[in-house]
Amino acid sequence: MSQAAKENLTGLDRTALAERFAQIGVPERQVRMRTNQLWSWLYQRGASDFEAMTNLSKDVRKNLDDQFTVTRPEITSSQISQDGTRKWLIRFAPGIEAETVYIPEEDRGTLCVSSQVGCTLNCSFCHTGTQKLVRNLTAGEIISQVLIAKDALEEWPGSDDDTGPRKLTNIVMMGMGEPLYNFDNVRDALLIASDPEAAPISKRRITLSTSGVIPEIPRVADEIGVMLAISLHAARDDLRDELVPINKKYPLKELMKACRNFPGLSNPKRITFEYVMLKGLNDSIADAKELVRILRGIPAKINLIPFNPWPGSAYECSDWDQIEKFSDVINNAGYASPIRTPRGRDIMAACGQLKSESEKLRASERREQQPTA
Ligand code: SAH
Ligand code: SF4
Repeated sequence: MSQAAKENLTGLDRTALAERFAQIGVPERQVRMRTNQLWSWLYQRGASDFEAMTNLSKDVRKNLDDQFTVTRPEITSSQISQDGTRKWLIRFAPGIEAETVYIPEEDRGTLCVSSQVGCTLNCSFCHTGTQKLVRNLTAGEIISQVLIAKDALEEWPGSDDDTGPRKLTNIVMMGMGEPLYNFDNVRDALLIASDPEAAPISKRRITLSTSGVIPEIPRVADEIGVMLAISLHAARDDLRDELVPINKKYPLKELMKACRNFPGLSNPKRITFEYVMLKGLNDSIADAKELVRILRGIPAKINLIPFNPWPGSAYECSDWDQIEKFSDVINNAGYASPIRTPRGRDIMAACGQLKSESEKLRASERREQQPTA
């Protein structure tokens, strides 16, 4: 069987893996143990071929290799910013590419993961929104972004550089795409990332960001259990309709209600609201007061994001002193309102700058590219 025709096992849950072992003739009483062994090779040790999995018998390894693969998607390009931020353009299939960004900070390292190639929504200030959706990423493609980052950071046991504090400590679903329009795959991937047997990242350190797909919001708590971020950007419907057009379908009042009802909402599980600072548009003191008013009663943190420009963008970033005044109003109302330092702007890796060349394909072309099992 050619490499291309083999099913990639990365991203499958344990039940699906157990089925694959049964399929290659592993006796039923051994299936569970083999599944756990494979799981640990994939997610604790970072194996990307069956050959390395030395506690599986030669026969099992060969049978796996005949039908399946665990290889990584290809890295098309890899860049490092002056500030240490790294960006990878990953090619999942011909014409199917998305970006992943790693942001090192003093006390943590955050991986910004993509959920889709492009985005069906078109927020007016976001570069990704100018790209048509090619397709949803699979769970395997989403978790592969984490594995690729760990490869590059040499974070697997036995790597030259595996001593010292962990470099990848946080995950944010803030790359390309709207994660709540690809819920099941995002859920499956995040459940692997936080799995106790997978060198886990705590759910408290994983944040899913949405532009406000209200019906899916409770599922973030119920089915994944990670932290929630809302891309708010405006506190009035007329302005939010313009900036984040999904607001016409899911307006502010209902969005705030969904936040108030977010299962498990409390101070330690507060919601992060992202607010991009656009000069003269949403950055007045009156806007800050309105923001405080609509958030009342919601345990929240407000991340102020200086607007990151991209070629052809129509906006300007607010002046720094205006951002600080805006932040003061929110702070005085009792909310943390950190101003996010732009990272990786020189390699177009900052918030909202991600885009790949992949363009929407005709259905016939898309069918040709579907991975075949
Ligand atoms: N689609 C999801 C996940 C992407 S998160 C969402 O919108 O929440 C990316 C974050 O960066 C979002 O808060 C987005 O609104 C913000 N953003 C987009 N374009 C930006 C830009 N040019 N400058 C700063 N932030 C931007
Ligand atoms: Fe899509 Fe988020 Fe960009 Fe809006 S901000 S276009 S939802 S990726």
